[in-house]
Amino acid sequence: MRRNPARTGPAALLPHLSPLNGHWTTATIAEDATGQPVEIGIALLPGIEWPYPPETCPTSCGTWHLNGELVICEGCGADGT
Ligand SMILES: [Zn+2]
Repeated sequence: MRRNPARTGPAALLPHLSPLNGHWTTATIAEDATGQPVEIGIALLPGIEWPYPPETCPTSCGTWHLNGELVICEGCGADGT
């Protein structure tokens, strides 16, 4: 998996979205289990607008992208890999 060395934190582990003509933004949410703030990646893909913000996303299923390298939540675009 390729890395972007300019990034720090969990977002540094996200694969490039350039094959999909997209890119990542990040959001800080409270983790379900502990309530601690955690940084997650949100995929921005051309022509797709996610119906929910990650904080209130009711969707637990994702869609595979990049030949099975990446799961993106169908509700909010969060990295679910
Ligand atoms: Zn979601």
